[in-house]
Amino acid sequence: MRAKLIVGNWKMNGSRAGNATLLADIVAGLTGVITDQAPPACAVCVPSPYLQQCEEVLSGTPIAWGAQDVSVHCFGAFTGEVCAKMLSEFDCRYVIVGHSERRAYHMESSEMVASKALAALQEGMTPIVCVGETLEEREAGQTEAVVGAQLDAVLEQLDADAVARIVVAYEPVWAIGTGRNATPEMAQAVHAHLRSRIAVRNGEAAQRIAILYGGSMKPDNAAALLAQPDIDGGLIGGAALKAQDFLGIIRAAK
Ligand code: PEP
Repeated sequence: MRAKLIVGNWKMNGSRAGNATLLADIVAGLTGVITDQAPPACAVCVPSPYLQQCEEVLSGTPIAWGAQDVSVHCFGAFTGEVCAKMLSEFDCRYVIVGHSERRAYHMESSEMVASKALAALQEGMTPIVCVGETLEEREAGQTEAVVGAQLDAVLEQLDADAVARIVVAYEPVWAIGTGRNATPEMAQAVHAHLRSRIAVRNGEAAQRIAILYGGSMKPDNAAALLAQPDIDGGLIGGAALKAQDFLGIIRAAK
């Protein structure tokens, strides 16, 4: 059985003082939640300036941390970029790649997302590869074709071992930050499709890889989503900024 994974995506939110309170509340709230034999794993992906704070506060706790993007380059004259080696110096476990906000606002292609996933893997971090369709694409019946092509572009760049080391997040664009989530059945159908695409390349990895759902997951809808056989966790935006909401989702994943 795959253990559940709950990851917060803080996006461009936070402050040193606010983070200190939020992280302390989450750590305190986890006592008594992460006690059984198959605890949900959890992590927060934060703006890069706060990685050091996460390392200081979260080391030795059950919460891992990570970044929200990574450069395709290793070093050099790329103003504003942060490379995988730098992120690994802060002991990041995860790097989100291909979030729909990066695809939309920074024109990131699926090929670029694949290069970012590779860059993270090469430094020992786990890329959380985001895929998702727009409302227009869903209404045109293109969901599987769109998310499948986004995922295939990444899988094509990876050998069978590397395929086994990624996490996938299905995030319908129309559900992100809108309060409108996919129904458990809708999400399950897409997750099963994504798993079948991974199975074409590595059948064993397909059974082990975590496929997270993201898009307005909240404490009150998390349990139903997480009960689906192919939904292995959540990538959480807005609800990750409130300790009680984030903890509520972690509890729902137990
Ligand atoms: C996200 O941006 O990854 C996300 C899932 O956001 P929200 O939970 O706010 O919809």
